[in-house]
Amino acid sequence: MPKKRRNGGRNKKNKGRALCIRCDNCQRMCGKDKAIKRFVIKNIVDASSKRDIEEASAYLSGENPMPKLYMKNQWCVACAIHKRTVRVRSTENKRVRFVSKVRKGTELGKLYKVANRKFVVNNPFANEEKEEM
Ligand SMILES: [Zn+2]
Repeated sequence: MPKKRRNGGRNKKNKGRALCIRCDNCQRMCGKDKAIKRFVIKNIVDASSKRDIEEASAYLSGENPMPKLYMKNQWCVACAIHKRTVRVRSTENKRVRFVSKVRKGTELGKLYKVANRKFVVNNPFANEEKEEM
């Protein structure tokens, strides 16, 4: 039988079995290596409210930073595509990897940087990053 993907859409390396997780949206069981994961850090309040709160606060600005929301989202493939976190990409575009950390100095690092940059034309992750901000 022909295969659609050599790795079956997974990153299982040589393991027999990977842990299963539940999709955050639909609770579907999904291999941890297959799930689409995004770590989101965002402010709890928007910028204008933040300024108002800081002005009303007794603490000096910068002395007591506002708390942030830290979330790790993980979705099954169907939900990630529905949410447009990931999209169907051309073969060339598929080589651009999504990483939250940029590795400096390596050739791979250059490729990673492209994925994280917002202003790059044809960046498949550009829309998704706007939503996170
Ligand atoms: Zn799902």
